[in-house]
Amino acid sequence: MIPFRSTRGAEPVPLSRALEDGIAKDGGLYVPAQFPQHLPSAFPEASGEGALAAVAEHLLAPFFAGDVLSPDLAGITSRAFDFPVPLVEVPGAPGKLSILELFHGPTAAFKDFGARFLATCMGALAAHRGASDGRKLTILVATSGDTGGAVAAAFHGVPWAEVVVLYPKGLVSPRQEQQLTCWDGNVRAFSVRGTFDDCQRMVKAAFADPELSGAFALSSANSINVGRLLPQAAYYAKASLEVQRAHGAKASFVVPSGNLGNVVACLWARRMGLPIDRVVLAHNENRTVPDFLHTGQFEARPSVATLASAMDVGNPSNLERLRVLYPDIEELRAAVRAVSVSDEAIRARIRQDHARYRTIHCPHTAVGAEAYANLAPAEQASGPWVLVSTAHPAKFHEIVEPLVGEPVPVPSALARLLALPQRKTEIAPELGALRAAMRAGP
Ligand SMILES: *Cc1c(COP(=O)(O)O)cnc(C)c1O
Repeated sequence: MIPFRSTRGAEPVPLSRALEDGIAKDGGLYVPAQFPQHLPSAFPEASGEGALAAVAEHLLAPFFAGDVLSPDLAGITSRAFDFPVPLVEVPGAPGKLSILELFHGPTAAFKDFGARFLATCMGALAAHRGASDGRKLTILVATSGDTGGAVAAAFHGVPWAEVVVLYPKGLVSPRQEQQLTCWDGNVRAFSVRGTFDDCQRMVKAAFADPELSGAFALSSANSINVGRLLPQAAYYAKASLEVQRAHGAKASFVVPSGNLGNVVACLWARRMGLPIDRVVLAHNENRTVPDFLHTGQFEARPSVATLASAMDVGNPSNLERLRVLYPDIEELRAAVRAVSVSDEAIRARIRQDHARYRTIHCPHTAVGAEAYANLAPAEQASGPWVLVSTAHPAKFHEIVEPLVGEPVPVPSALARLLALPQRKTEIAPELGALRAAMRAGP
C-alpha cells in the first residue's frame, strides 16, 4: 500500500483518510509518500471505449491496495469516467500537435474528472460505513466558476450528502452561474455579495466554527483534495500512451494553469513512469508562477481579473505540491517551464486559430495555444506536443462568439442544464449570513 503524506510532514495516512480529511491535520496538502513505477508496456489498451477507466485502474491500483476502497477501484473508475476524452490532431499546425479535449463531461470542463471521481469514492466510503452512521455529509465548496458546477453535478441526487456552493455574485460567466444554480434536492447555491476570496474565507471560517461543525458533518471538495488530482493523472497517462503508440515518441504537454492542480497531476504521471517529456505551464496575467521560476523568489499576489477567469489565482495552493516534487529551484527549472499570456494575446489567438484551423478555443485553452505558438520553431518540430483543452468554448460564449463571428454550438449535456430553472439564495459575505442560510435548510 502507498500511503499519503503531508507536504508539511505529518504522519502518512491511507488513501481513504486522505480523501475524507481533504487537508492534512498539520495544514499541509496530501501527496503520495512514494510513486509507483509503471512500465508503459504493462498498461491496457489506451484507446477505444472504456480505455480511460482501464488505464486509471492500472495507474491507481498501488494507491488503493490495502485500503478499504481497494475492492471498489474498478467500479469507481468505470462509473466516474463514463464520458470520452478524445485526443484530436490539428492538421496544418507547426509541428505534430494534438488537442486533448477534457470538456466532454456533464459540466463541460476538466473539473468533472476530479469531482466525479471524488464523489464516487466518497459514495463507496459511505456504503462501507453503512446505515450505522446515518449522518449526512455536507460538502462545502467555494468556487470561481467551474469547480462548483462540477461538484454539484457529481453529488446531485446522492442520499448520503448535501452540497452547499458559494460563488461571488456577478463574477462568474452567465452559463457558469446557470450550472451552479440549476439544481434541486440536495444541492444549494449561495450567491455571495463579495469576491471569490470572500467565499473561500467563509468556507474556511465555517470549518473552524464550533456551531456549524457541530450541526453539520462538514467535508470539502476543492482542489486541495488529493481525490481530485489522482484521476487527472489518468488522462495524462492515457494521452501519453496514445501519443507514444502513434508517433513512437514521448508526448510534451502545454497545460493552461491557475491553481496548478491540473499540471501537478501531469507531473505525477511523469514521475510514475509515463512517456511524458516537456511540460509547459501556460498562465494568464497572473504571473506568480512564471515570476517565481524566473527570480527564484516566491511572492504571492492578489489575483487580477482576466478573460481566462478560472485561472485568476495569485497564490496557487498546489505550488506547495510542486515544490515538494522539485525541492530545489534549479531542479524545478529543469522540470517545467512557465509563461504568461495577456488578454490581448488570448483574443488574437482565438481569432487566429479559428481562421487557420477552424478550431474554437475557450479563453483558458487559448492561453495554452498562445504559449505553444510562441515556442521556437525547432522546439515545436521536436514534438509531438499536446495542448490541454480545459473547457468547452460554449461555456464562455459571451467572450468567444464576438471574436470568431459565429455561434458556438452548445454540447447536449450543457444544453440540458441551461434549460433548467435557477434556484439560489443571495447572502452577505459574512460567516453569520452563511450560518443562517445553512440552518434555514433547503
Ligand atoms: C480550473 C481551471 C483551470 C485551471 O486549472 P488549475 O488546476 O487550477 O491549474 C483552467 N481552465 C479551466 C477551464 C478551469 O476550470
